[in-house]
Amino acid sequence: MKGKTFVFTEKWPGSYCDTKTSCCYPTTGKPAADFGIHGLWPNYNDGSYPSNCDPSNPFDQSEISDLRSSMQKEWPTLACPSSSGIAFWTHEWEKHGTCSESVIDQHGYFEAALNLKKKINLLQALQSAGIQPNGDSYTLQNITGAVKDATGFTPFIECNVDESGNSQLYQVYLCVDTSGSDLIECPVFPHGQCGTQTEFPTF
Ligand code: 5GP
Ligand code: 5GP
Ligand code: 5GP
Repeated sequence: MKGKTFVFTEKWPGSYCDTKTSCCYPTTGKPAADFGIHGLWPNYNDGSYPSNCDPSNPFDQSEISDLRSSMQKEWPTLACPSSSGIAFWTHEWEKHGTCSESVIDQHGYFEAALNLKKKINLLQALQSAGIQPNGDSYTLQNITGAVKDATGFTPFIECNVDESGNSQLYQVYLCVDTSGSDLIECPVFPHGQCGTQTEFPTF
């Protein structure tokens, strides 16, 4: 259980929304057709992770007022019912962020995730390898290879299924060092569940 790093996850909004559960756009409007942050999650090297580490340090939006407009753009909520994002960010801070508070405070936590998103342009990485969000399908190796070529690190690709049962690119996981700022190779990978052909739907 020793050694705590982070898992940084981004989600493709098209794949969250075209499922049976569907989605709701945030009250601030439809997000851009880009990956959005899901979370920055402290992890142990064996793949297990702590959660809800400090109930005495709740989410406080006044601490991140300078980041609010970037968060609305880069870390949009798509859960129903439609909301501003505060509930999603509160959940992410309280479940995950509080487990890294000895390394980064609340402002540092959200800023670290925003900086990672900026540094890793996932959509561009995929598009420069010819992988477009237009409903075409690709192999998992194609997708993984494109992210690896662009970032230097092997991602974990999570798939989900759309309403007609097709396997599609849902989330991309990359691992981050203990400071929350630089990518590292992942110590462990979860089991994949992508089909042999993975669709990249529009949004
Ligand atoms: P799911 O079951 O949808 O994969 O994950 C549900 C939740 O479990 C995620 O939103 C996240 O909070 C947590 N989770 C899943 N995988 C990981 C992981 O590798 N590390 C951490 N820290 N949390 C995870
Ligand atoms: P995690 O999977 O990180 O534990 O937490 C996801 C939680 O945040 C879920 O309870 C979900 O309802 C809420 N949530 C709010 N907006 C979103 C969103 O856009 N995507 C995901 N995966 N969860 C969201
Ligand atoms: P939570 O209970 O943690 O809110 O969410 C449980 C699971 O349901 C998460 O994997 C989350 O991504 C998903 N989920 C919650 N609300 C919605 C929603 O409105 N639309 C979709 N597509 N998934 C949702």
